[in-house]
Amino acid sequence: MTQAVFRFAPSPNGRLHLGHAYSALLNQKLARETGGRLLLRVENTDTVRCSPLLEARMLDDLRWLGVTWEGEPRRQSEHGEDYVEAVERLQALGLAYPAFLSRGEARRLVEEKAAAGRSWPCDPDGVPHYPGEERLLGEAERDVRIEAGDPFAIRLDMKKALAMCDLPPKQLCWQEEGNGPEGEHGETVADPAAWGDFMLTGKDRSAAYHLACVVDDAIQGITHVVRGRDLFHATSAHRLLQELLGLPVPVYCHHDLILDSDGRKLSKSRADTSIAELRTAGAAPGDIAKMVGF
Ligand code: GLU
Repeated sequence: MTQAVFRFAPSPNGRLHLGHAYSALLNQKLARETGGRLLLRVENTDTVRCSPLLEARMLDDLRWLGVTWEGEPRRQSEHGEDYVEAVERLQALGLAYPAFLSRGEARRLVEEKAAAGRSWPCDPDGVPHYPGEERLLGEAERDVRIEAGDPFAIRLDMKKALAMCDLPPKQLCWQEEGNGPEGEHGETVADPAAWGDFMLTGKDRSAAYHLACVVDDAIQGITHVVRGRDLFHATSAHRLLQELLGLPVPVYCHHDLILDSDGRKLSKSRADTSIAELRTAGAAPGDIAKMVGF
């Protein structure tokens, strides 16, 4: 039996809250119970919202809680070349294209289509699929725009990607040890098309979440991804990228989300459920563990 490898992968774009405490403590518990390892990953490709100060506070909150991980955390900001390499492989397969529209421009274009009576799909986060008109641009036209300095993101060509996988229906699956929003459990069929042409690299060249996440899970040798149910649908995009890049497939466990007293998902911008606030108010690490059900 190979040793299980778990990871906790928070983004330092705000203070950690009770939901993070639950996820970190659950990963730690599972790693201990199975004789596995727990690694930490700092998901900080968003350089606008993430900062070294927030990272330091995040690590301090985790240590105070009693979460211990093996070795140095893997900081995404220090591994740009790994993501570039993955995107270049997808480009070489003809599965990625430069996308020149900003999110706002894409939204407006989609609204125009909707006003003209065309229904338009949204991804599981409620964002309209990228219109992807650039797929029709000839190489010369693309190159002119790139050379003119037009900023561009890089997006996956979903249609081509699915065609390249050429899998019989239901073959792109994962083993779900937790539950999806509809109670999905066990062998779960991925639906990557639900994400449309999702972003691989932003206009600032930084790797987007889905890409960085699967590349890192593979590099860190993660065998068990244990994370909140809000990321259940993201797993469909992750499975497709793993298939295209030939990466190993971990087992997934999507756990309950900790909700506030009004039944809403916790947010990093709310102070009352932040670990820092609870610490200041005199809570002990054991109190936090109890609050989240341990
Ligand atoms: N960085 C993500 C977050 O803080 C978690 C990503 C993951 O666990 O895959 O929500």
